[in-house]
Amino acid sequence: MIGRESTDVVVVGGGPAGLSAALVLGRMRRWVLVLDTGAPANAVSKRVHGFLSRDGTPPAEVRAAGREQLLPYGSVDCRSVSARSARRLADGRFEVGLEDGTEVVARRLLLAHGMRYGLPDLGGLAELWGRRVFHCPYCHGWEVRDQPLGVYGRGSRAAHQALMLGSLSNDVVLLSDGDFDLTNEERERLERAGVDLYDHRVERVEEDGEELSVVFAGRPPLVRHALFIQPVLSLVSELAGSLGAALTDKGTIETDEAGKTTVPGMYAAGDAGATVQSVAVATGTGARAAYAINAELALEDAASPSR
Ligand SMILES: Cc1cc2nc3c(=O)[nH]c(=O)nc-3n(C[C@H](O)[C@H](O)[C@H](O)COP(=O)(O)OP(=O)(O)OC[C@H]3O[C@@H](n4cnc5c(N)ncnc54)[C@H](O)[C@@H]3O)c2cc1C
Repeated sequence: MIGRESTDVVVVGGGPAGLSAALVLGRMRRWVLVLDTGAPANAVSKRVHGFLSRDGTPPAEVRAAGREQLLPYGSVDCRSVSARSARRLADGRFEVGLEDGTEVVARRLLLAHGMRYGLPDLGGLAELWGRRVFHCPYCHGWEVRDQPLGVYGRGSRAAHQALMLGSLSNDVVLLSDGDFDLTNEERERLERAGVDLYDHRVERVEEDGEELSVVFAGRPPLVRHALFIQPVLSLVSELAGSLGAALTDKGTIETDEAGKTTVPGMYAAGDAGATVQSVAVATGTGARAAYAINAELALEDAASPSR
């Protein structure tokens, strides 16, 4: 496959979404080139949780298992190289420029490059990210159940997260670091759920043995077992933007339910294109996009069998 100038599908990203799509396409004998820089957002995490059959497995092992299962499918090629540019050709295909200077022309393009999880600007947070600071109650809540928990943030997203943690711990504090930015209804709901509301200024967070200390200006610290935050998502790659794809309010690539973007022939799956960021959803949306891509290719082949 390496050195071929054209392929059926270029998949940008070899995480759960990209590998899942490649598996489906490989099984349909499509030529697939998966490009991957090997830097997923969850690399800081010790284990992947909530993914059926791999619950509690280190992220790298999940990816390695996925890549291994592609080996029998000879039309799938995985390369550890970055896709640095893409343009849509007049005939509807895509020319993808690789970091190594080569170019590949593909009939379809699938963006599965994940998202960047931007952390709040608070001292000590980045060092504890993935160990004591988490973003997803579904992914990491069980491991800290029945412990004192904190939610750092403001507004509806923070309130929602605090409510979600209510089934896991009866000691949840919402730390707004100033104005809560909540409606009266949200505030009352949190109070009814037993969530304590703190609006004191937070200076930093520190590791404290097996716990985490929230350090305030001018008052004693608050010890928590874990802190939950709401990262701001942004695209890790400029490919979607350079092709003119529409984005959602959340910053992800806008798709229909099959993963089709607003750019004809271009799909997005996983974190980059889904409304929910999880390994299970990434795997599912990758497979879903692959079904749609393969169906389009089959129709195209039938229309001009000489391709
Ligand atoms: C700290 C943390 C912990 C998490 N824990 C869990 C959990 O326990 N359970 C769960 O279900 N979900 C968890 N998630 C969410 C989960 O990791 C993501 O939803 C999932 O990995 C998304 O899969 P993906 O294939 O879309 O992207 P990713 O897994 O991010 O993979 C994208 C790949 O594309 C590559 N790439 C990027 N740009 C390019 C480019 N230009 N060219 C080539 N390759 C490129 C990247 O290097 C990366 O390898 C966690 C997320 C974080 C941040």
